Amino acid sequence: MTLPDLEQHFVSLENFGHSLRAPAYVLKPDRAEEIAEAFQLARRTGLSLNARGAGRSYNDAALNGGGIVIELGAMNRILKWNAQTGVVVAEPGVTLQQLWQQVEPDGWWPPVVSGTMLTTLGGCLAANVHGKNNFKVGPIGEHVIQFSAVLPTGAELTCSPRKNADLFYAMIGGFGMLGIFTSVTLQMKRVYSGLLEVSARPSHNLHEHLADLLENAPNYDYIVGWLDATAGGRALGRGQIHAANYLHEGEDRNAARTMRLKNQVLPPRIFGVFPKSIVHFFMTPFMNDLGTSLINTGKYITSLPRHTFRESHAAFHFLLDYIPDWELAYGRAGLIEYQSFLPKETAEAAWREMLALSLRRGLPSYLGVTKRHRPDKFLLSHAVDGFSNAMDFKVTRGNRRELSRLLEDFDRIVVEAGGRFYFAKNSETRRETAARFLGARAIAEFKRLKKRCDPHGLLQSDLYRRLFA
Ligand SMILES: Cc1cc2nc3c(=O)[nH]c(=O)nc-3n(C[C@H](O)[C@H](O)[C@H](O)COP(=O)(O)OP(=O)(O)OC[C@H]3O[C@@H](n4cnc5c(N)ncnc54)[C@H](O)[C@@H]3O)c2cc1C
Repeated sequence: MTLPDLEQHFVSLENFGHSLRAPAYVLKPDRAEEIAEAFQLARRTGLSLNARGAGRSYNDAALNGGGIVIELGAMNRILKWNAQTGVVVAEPGVTLQQLWQQVEPDGWWPPVVSGTMLTTLGGCLAANVHGKNNFKVGPIGEHVIQFSAVLPTGAELTCSPRKNADLFYAMIGGFGMLGIFTSVTLQMKRVYSGLLEVSARPSHNLHEHLADLLENAPNYDYIVGWLDATAGGRALGRGQIHAANYLHEGEDRNAARTMRLKNQVLPPRIFGVFPKSIVHFFMTPFMNDLGTSLINTGKYITSLPRHTFRESHAAFHFLLDYIPDWELAYGRAGLIEYQSFLPKETAEAAWREMLALSLRRGLPSYLGVTKRHRPDKFLLSHAVDGFSNAMDFKVTRGNRRELSRLLEDFDRIVVEAGGRFYFAKNSETRRETAARFLGARAIAEFKRLKKRCDPHGLLQSDLYRRLFA
């Protein structure tokens, strides 16, 4: 293929939040050899190349303006599944949805999942995704037995915690900047029911919210908080905590039935009547400061009674998939998700300052989601011994500059509080900020590996150019 042949593949791509656009030459390999050929093409044409899974990153991680993007959705075969050991070998385009639907009927569940099941395994490894159990089991990378990858040099290699360990810990969480995953071997988690036991309770302010996450996490397998970021004053940081445990063997007498797919899949209609696919149209009129403040207040009031209930794994983990295309409700200019990770000692003061600042500037976040985390040993890790808070901001033509200024101020507060960032979310964070939180040693090691794996600098994304190039 030559550059003129490539022209017909030139299409405009967007991030998940629809706040960024970048045209690129999109290729869709369906074998590892075609990835190696794409690298040769990039070398011949002088274009850079980036991988893309399902494009569910909120920011510019899966964009490569003016370059080549290889979409890996066609490499979506589950190559081996062992229902005795729970070990799966899969291609990088396999989605979490395909994965859990393959393993659950046999009594297994993926050890770590993102808040949407539409992500691919390649994207999940590249971001080293965390779940609502990060404090307990770490990120997905800690459950990878090994992976295979193609490097820009054309070399194919296998990495595990013992073989090519430096690349194992750098490529997982490396956002596709060192090589492209071609297969992943992952250990699943044994489960004895298709249901989780969930406890729901309110938190009346930020102090209570974080104290609940901190003190109660050790008693649960999963914990997550919803935060009403539109509430100020004494209610600042109020919200709701959901904490869940697996059921032990024998606790669910209908385990075989609850693990059946038809008892897990999310219903296509709301109240059995409205197709979910049209719900985002009805959300649009409420996506403003007043509308979300009213909705959040209503949600907070209904969350006041403490209760426990049993819920399917899919319903607990993939709440955001209930309403397809919900992000479109944010309007034409889309949304930005800003997720910060703060040590448990500094989180409360920093988020108090950030929440108050966003309210003062008239730029409230419409959704806040908190989690409990622990550190891990991946090179570009976002984790801390503390918490994360993911905040969604509506972008409009009128507020874009002010929003960028707010998020820059957030970055300063987070870095000064010893915090970290997640490269799948924030789109405003700058190179100097990344260098500060990652530290000189991690950056130097990353650059050393980049030189070794990609001597001609072929692997690039908009995110790479923003943060590292
Ligand atoms: C609604 C929603 C909820 C989310 N919840 C969570 C959550 O709970 N926890 C969490 O950690 N994240 C979460 N995320 C973020 C999401 O999990 C990550 O952005 C993930 O990387 C997306 O996977 P993807 O397949 O769409 O990858 P893409 O967005 O397409 O790509 C992400 C990165 O992976 C690289 N990449 C993709 N495939 C490969 C490959 N085969 N080899 C090498 N690099 C590759 C790309 O170059 C890019 O840098 C959420 C996102 C959404 C939209």
